[in-house]
Formats: sequence, structure tokens, C-alpha cells
Amino acid sequence: RRPYSDEVKRAQNADVNSSGPTIFDKIISKEIKADIIYEDELCLAFNDIAPQAPVHFLVIPKRKISRLQDSETGDKELLGHLMLVARSLGAARAPQGWRLVVNNGVHGAQSVYHLHLHVLGGRQLKWPPG
Ligand code: C5P
Repeated sequence: RRPYSDEVKRAQNADVNSSGPTIFDKIISKEIKADIIYEDELCLAFNDIAPQAPVHFLVIPKRKISRLQDSETGDKELLGHLMLVARSLGAARAPQGWRLVVNNGVHGAQSVYHLHLHVLGGRQLKWPPG
């Protein structure tokens, strides 16, 4: 497992101001292979490449929103959809419980500036996070 500090470093070095494509665009367009577990017209879910728990997948909108902070009132349905997809997949894959995480911006340790919901489970998670 990758130490958390690596992820924080990656997040601090991420290009916060870039509105350009991210690695997730290439996953959506299938240019880059990902372990996709669910797809519909609005979103994609795939296993995280560096899992922090036995169950760790991401749910991302196909339409890019950089950070949750950049979402708008008009995104209400899309955001609700992402949560409902996370709910169904979380319930199926980690029936004993799971956690939904959205890292936002530098202090939130966001490293990819394309909104994604982390779903983590499959073991007893601790609280509070670092
Ligand atoms: O919330 P944050 O931006 O830090 O999370 C990005 C996540 O995307 C990381 O957990 C990282 O492992 C994952 N990732 C991935 N596949 C890639 C690049 C990043 O699953 N090709």
C-alpha cells in the first residue's frame, strides 16, 4: 500500500488551475485501460489503481467537473446520480459498510482534478482520517 504522504505530495503537486483534460478523460474515452465495474450514460465506476482498502473504487461523471467546489445548482441531478451509483455498488461490494470520500482541492489532498467519489470498504475503517 502506498503511504498516505505520497498521495498528499501528489495532491500538492497537482495542477490545481488546469481546466484541461486529466487522466480520467482517457479512462472515459477508453484510451487508457481501467478496471471498469459500472458504466452508464452519465458516469463511470472503476477500481482505484492504488487501493487503500480491499474495496476501493471511484465513481466519476463523464462530464468533467474539476472539484466538487466547482459544481453548480444545475448539477444537482448528476451529483445525486453519482451518489446513488456509489450506494448501489457499495452495498453490493462491501455489505458490511463502506465510506464515501470526496477530496476537494489542495488541503483536501485532491490529486486528479476531475470530480470523483471514492468508495472504500471491505475492512473496518478508522476515524478520523488524517
Ligand atoms: O482524491 P484524489 O484526487 O487524491 O484521488 C485520485 C485517485 O485516483 C487516487 O486514489 C488514485 O490512486 C486514483 N487513480 C486511478 N487511476 C489512475 C490515476 C489515479 O485509480 N490512472
